[in-house]
Amino acid sequence: MTAEHEVVVVGAGFAGIAAALELEAAGIADVVILERAGDLGGTWRDNTYPGVACDVPAHLYTLARHPWPHWSREFAPGAEIQAYLRRVAASTGIDGRIRFDTALAEAHWDGDAWALQTTRGARRARMLILACGRLTEPSIPQVHGLAAFPGPVVHSARWDPTLAVAGTRIAVVGTGASGVQMVPELVRRGAAVTLFQRSAPWVLPRGGRTYTDAERHRFASRPDVLAALREELFQEGEARHASRAGDAAAAAAASDQALAHLRAHVTDPALRASLTPNYAFGCKRVLLSDDFYPAVASDAVTLEPSALARVDADTLVAASGRRHTVDAVVLATGFRATRQPYADLITGEDGISLDEHWATGMSSALSTIVSGFPNLFILNGPNASLGHNSSLLMLEEQAAYAARTIAARPTGAILRPDPVAEQAYTDMIVRRSRTTAWVTGGCRSWYVDERSGRLTLLWPGTVTEFRAQLRAADGTEFLREPATERSTTP
Ligand code: NAP
Repeated sequence: MTAEHEVVVVGAGFAGIAAALELEAAGIADVVILERAGDLGGTWRDNTYPGVACDVPAHLYTLARHPWPHWSREFAPGAEIQAYLRRVAASTGIDGRIRFDTALAEAHWDGDAWALQTTRGARRARMLILACGRLTEPSIPQVHGLAAFPGPVVHSARWDPTLAVAGTRIAVVGTGASGVQMVPELVRRGAAVTLFQRSAPWVLPRGGRTYTDAERHRFASRPDVLAALREELFQEGEARHASRAGDAAAAAAASDQALAHLRAHVTDPALRASLTPNYAFGCKRVLLSDDFYPAVASDAVTLEPSALARVDADTLVAASGRRHTVDAVVLATGFRATRQPYADLITGEDGISLDEHWATGMSSALSTIVSGFPNLFILNGPNASLGHNSSLLMLEEQAAYAARTIAARPTGAILRPDPVAEQAYTDMIVRRSRTTAWVTGGCRSWYVDERSGRLTLLWPGTVTEFRAQLRAADGTEFLREPATERSTTP
C-alpha cells in the first residue's frame, strides 16, 4: 500500500527541519521528511573540508525558535553547526519524522496530490515541500586530463578525511567562500598550496572571537540579552545590503575597506595586483576572512592567478601556461546552482517538469511557489539566497508562509499558483536587479542564470522586505477558479 501524508518535506537540512517545526507549530501533524543520506544536516553534513565554518555570526545563524546560548565563538565551525541542528531535531522529536536513506526519485501531480517514487517505495502527499538545498551538487570543471591525475582529487563538499595534508603539495582550484576558508587551514596543517584563482574575490575583514564562559552563562540565563544580540546582528546584516545592491557610495566605502584589508596583509605589489578584483564589489559573494591574505602572502602558498586549463599527468597547467606539479587536487569549484538537481524530478499538472518550466532560469511567485505545480512550496530555491545576511532568516520565513498557507487551506482545496503572479514577481526581480552589481558588475556568479542573464537565485532586497511580502500574502497569489476553468494567461 502506498503511504499517504498530508505533507512530505524533501530534505533534512536547515530548511527541511525549519519546515517541519513550522508545520508542527501550525498544528499539522501528518508530516514526514525524506532524506537521501543517512544523516541530517545538508550543507553542514556534506561540507567537512579543513576550516569549514559559517561567516554569518552564530547567533544569527540559529533558528529563531531555538536560540543557542552556548556557541563557542562568534563564527561557528561547521561541526558545531551540524551538532546544533542534530540537537534541535532530537529535542523537538523532529528526527522521528525523518526517513533516512530515502531519496526522491520522481514526483508528479496526479490531479489530486503528489505521487512520489522514492528509493524506498512509493508515497503520496497532498502537499509537497522541497527543501533540497541550493548548493548540493558539486560543479566539477571540464578540464582535460583531470580524470587521469594520478593522486587524489576531491571536491570541497566531498572532503576525504584520509587525505594526507601535512607535507603534501595541494592544488586548490577556486577562490569562492569554500576555497578562501580552506587555504589558511591547509597551510596551518602543513600543506604547500598552489592556489588557482580565476577571479580575485572581494574580501573583507571578518573579526570574531571565542565567547567566554561568563558570556555564554549570561546568554543562557538572560534570553533578553541573547535576543538583543541577535537583533543587533540582524540590523548589522541589513545595513550591508546597500553596498551589494547598487548603492554606489556604500559600495565604494566597502570596496575601500576591502582594498585596505588587502594592502594591510600583502606588501608585494605584484601579488597585490593579482589579488585585486577586476569586477564590481558585490557582484559575486563578498567573502569575510582575516587569514586568507596572510596565508596567500606566506611562503606556503603559490598564487596562480589564472584558471586551471588542463592536467598533464601530475602537472596542472594553468591558463597562463605555467605548470604546477602537485600531489593532490582540491576542487573548491562550487556547485551546479542555476539548474537545481531536483528540478527534473518534479512534473507538474501540465506534464512538464520544473526544469522545463525554468528553461530560461528559475522563476516563482514569492520565491516559494510556481505556477503549474499545485500544492508545492520550494524553500531556498528561486530568488531566496542572500549575500548580506543570514540565509536562515529567509528559509524560516518561507517555512512559516508554507505552514500558514497549508493550515488555512479549506479541506480538499488545491493551491494553484497564479501564472500572472509569477510573471509579475519575475518582472519585479528583473526590474530591481537591473542596475545592481549582481547583474552589471562584470563577473560570473551562481546568482545569475547563464541562459537568460536573469538574477534567479539571489533575493535582491533586504530580509525585512522579504518578510513583509510573505507576511502580507493574502492568497491572491493562488488561482481561485476550479481546475477545469484555469486561467490560460501566460
Ligand atoms: P563558488 O563561490 O561558486 O566558487 C567557485 C570558485 O571556483 C570560483 O572562484 C570560480 O572562479 C572557481 N573555478 C571554477 N572553475 C575553475 C577553474 N577551471 N579554474 C580556476 N577556478 C575555477 O563556490 P564555493 O566557494 O563552494 O561557494 C559557494 C557558496 O557556498 C558561496 O557563495 C556561499 O553562498 C556558500 N558558502 C558559504 C560559506 C559561509 O561561510 N557562509 C562558506 C562556504 C560556502 P570564478 O569566480 O572565476 O567563477
